[in-house]
Amino acid sequence: MKIKIIKALPKYLKPKPDEKKLGFGQHFTDHMFTMKYREGDGWYDPVIEPYHYLQLDPTAMCLHYGQEIFEGLKAYRGTNDEIYLFRPLENIRRMNVSAERLCMPPIDETVFLDALKQFVVLEKEWIPREKGASLYIRPTMIATEPALGVHPASEYLFFIICGPVGAYYAHGFGPTKIYVSDDCVRAAPGGTGHVKAAGNYAASLYASRIASAMGYTQVLWLDARENRYVEEVGTSNIFFMIGDRLITPPLGGTILPGVTRDSVLKLAAHLGVKAEESRIAITEVISAIEEGTLRDAFATGTAAVISPVGQIFYHNREYLINDGKTGELAEKLYHEILQIQYGLKEDPFGWRMRIA
Ligand SMILES: *Cc1c(COP(=O)(O)O)cnc(C)c1O
Repeated sequence: MKIKIIKALPKYLKPKPDEKKLGFGQHFTDHMFTMKYREGDGWYDPVIEPYHYLQLDPTAMCLHYGQEIFEGLKAYRGTNDEIYLFRPLENIRRMNVSAERLCMPPIDETVFLDALKQFVVLEKEWIPREKGASLYIRPTMIATEPALGVHPASEYLFFIICGPVGAYYAHGFGPTKIYVSDDCVRAAPGGTGHVKAAGNYAASLYASRIASAMGYTQVLWLDARENRYVEEVGTSNIFFMIGDRLITPPLGGTILPGVTRDSVLKLAAHLGVKAEESRIAITEVISAIEEGTLRDAFATGTAAVISPVGQIFYHNREYLINDGKTGELAEKLYHEILQIQYGLKEDPFGWRMRIA
């Protein structure tokens, strides 16, 4: 499939933001990639064109029945202006799993990867040079068929936008405070917790607002059946280091299979740390804190990579982890992964993909 390229006229190019004040999700580049789908015709008209508003009929089905999925990955600039993606095929495949679960059409992996590469290379001036900063890429698919009635849509739009984002920890690598929700759940068995469906995030806001009002940064989600087993933190996967075991909850339908989660499991094993996927009850975490065996707790995701957890609020009590300091393993994994992403270190796993 040949991608058509329509460049924005120089007079319409946006000024580049200050790389020291990027934040997250605030700035977007000059172009976007779009491709349409119609039942019977398949995907057609792949194009990179100037960034623009979308025109949708008010009955576009994504607006009513929530057929909307997305992905999140990053492009990094190396020391000599090499441009890298990190494990992009994992995101491409996961998006197709999300599409299948929501009865949306899959995208050919080669076409998807080609779109990512051409788009990012066209926007490469937007990839920050500042340490720890990168270009965040957001592939999205929405149902556009103009019709009411609950059934899978027959028309879709796939688009990719991207924008520069700052180092997540502008003020250093500091631990967050998390709030254990035991009245709201994120995902139930048989539901859509294992895919990046927009509706999952709308449903998570209420608990986040409660946590935030109480001074916590993130919600720790427990399983929907027994309200007992730890599942995820906010929109990140979670790891605990208890004694010499590094534990993360197993995938199984209610947990998003994070690319960072998988990278941490593989990297930890490579570094000689005993990493395992096992169910872990919140009461076990609390006991480990009380007994002093919980050495480290951290969340993982593309945006922050590793986000150490310093405090947990559970059943009206606050528990301090590792004296509220970042654990040694969290710190080590963070730096190792960043060095692989930015091409500063050998990549024994073949995770880095050089695209320019
Ligand atoms: C995206 C996401 C993650 C992290 O996935 P990465 O591929 O590591 O970015 C974890 N949990 C949820 C709910 C997510 O949406």
